[in-house]
Amino acid sequence: MKSSRLLGNKAKLITVLWLLLSCGFLANTLVSYFVSREAIRESIVATELPLTSDNVYSEIQKDLVRPILISSMMSRDTFLRDWVMGGERDIGQMTRYLKEVMSHYGTFTAFFVSEATRNYYQAGGLLKQVSPDEARDVWYFRVRDMEKPYEINVDPDLANRDKLTIFINYRVFDYDHRFIGATGVGLNVDAVVNLIDDYQQRYGRGIYFVDTGGRIVVAGRQGIAGEGASHATIREIEGLREQADAILRAGRGTYEYLREGHRHFLNARHIPELNWHLFVVKQEDGALAELQRTLYINLALCASITLLVLLLVYLAIGRYQRRLEAMATTDNLTGLANRHALELLLDQGTRESTRLGTPMSAIMLDIDRFKELNDSRGHLAGDRVLQQVAELLRGGVRNSDIASRWGGEEFLVILKNTRLPAAADVANALRARIEKARPEIDGSPVTLTISAGVATYRAGESKESFIARADALLYQAKQEGRNRVCSEPYEGNVVDG
Ligand code: GH3
Ligand code: MG
Ligand code: MG
Repeated sequence: MKSSRLLGNKAKLITVLWLLLSCGFLANTLVSYFVSREAIRESIVATELPLTSDNVYSEIQKDLVRPILISSMMSRDTFLRDWVMGGERDIGQMTRYLKEVMSHYGTFTAFFVSEATRNYYQAGGLLKQVSPDEARDVWYFRVRDMEKPYEINVDPDLANRDKLTIFINYRVFDYDHRFIGATGVGLNVDAVVNLIDDYQQRYGRGIYFVDTGGRIVVAGRQGIAGEGASHATIREIEGLREQADAILRAGRGTYEYLREGHRHFLNARHIPELNWHLFVVKQEDGALAELQRTLYINLALCASITLLVLLLVYLAIGRYQRRLEAMATTDNLTGLANRHALELLLDQGTRESTRLGTPMSAIMLDIDRFKELNDSRGHLAGDRVLQQVAELLRGGVRNSDIASRWGGEEFLVILKNTRLPAAADVANALRARIEKARPEIDGSPVTLTISAGVATYRAGESKESFIARADALLYQAKQEGRNRVCSEPYEGNVVDG
């Protein structure tokens, strides 16, 4: 009953401790995870993506805006205009001019198309004549009729094995503001694509350009990082579809969308020079992977620590429990069973003897004139003597017999399965053993004797009555002169009277 209650309490304590530790660790780990995740999101949205956008924008400016400036200068160039108005006589002059622009500014191509002759000049010489019926020349007629001074157009370059090229097409006017042709430079898209590839790889972000209609104009060689498939327009991208119009209307903004269950962050900005939108995208998973790994490691660590703590507590409780139990049943000074333990044992022994009829005997023994020893040699010496007697008792009985300290200098030995004659023999042997021992206390031997009363249990009687009989016999032994054993009469035992 008692030990099962103790066990129950222990299980309860371990459970409560487990709950407390788990909740504490879990709360701590999860809170720090969510705070970190929020911080990472915040840094993606507020810092990383805008910064990438700014970097790409400034690179683009370097790569695209310079050609726009060059084209603008070409369109105002007095040589070019004079040459055209002079009748386009010496083609060599024009090709030299275009070659000079190309080599000096490092552009991919430089060109001029005349409105008067429809001649297409480039650094290599006269290329061809443009015609409104030719699909490839449509751009010229568009430029001729447009309002704004220039346009940017991505087209295959006829003069360069049809490589995809960004053309800056500037309108050219004479001094009376009459349209006389189109000029400008071409820029190999490869350079921009390389830049995008480099950025996508280095920063794990998707980068691409979108025109005002939502068409994806320029992206990396492998498509858009994080998008997997390549798309023609942003309206084909899951999650962006619904926001496309709003994004294209806004000059600059940050957006969130879910694609295939993954959260994406988008920073979009309009680049007025190109009239394109620059899109910089980052998938959240990639950014959180490290954090998630840390979360799992933390959780595993917390679980291990919890288990370890619980194990240690379990072991410690077990050890203290055993110590408490021992303390409750053992006499401090002698290490023998105490009176409390022996009473429990007697309860069990008397029941068993009554039920099964097995014999059980008791030896009640008391040190003779112990008070004198205490008085002459001191209390500590008395304690040492008690320990010596306990030792002698322990060594003088069988393992199945229980020696206990019953009171001050009184000891009770319970002998199970032992009838009176055998018990009296044990008592006499103990008495002789103690008398013979003459233990040395503080360097000098002590004469030590005991008196004992031996009784055997009578089926059905109480333990109190059983012990009282042994006690009475002890008293008798004292009365008869001490250093002797008195037992109940039995065959072969001569009893006076
Ligand atoms: P008797 O032969 O009649 O038994 O004489 P006695 O002096 O042994 O008997 P009494 O009962 O008068 O004295 C017992 C003494 O034992 C008195 C008490 O102070 C002492 N005593 C009891 N417990 C302890 C103990 O733990 N240590 C020590 N040193 N003395 C103790
Ligand atoms: Mg005594
Ligand atoms: Mg006594």
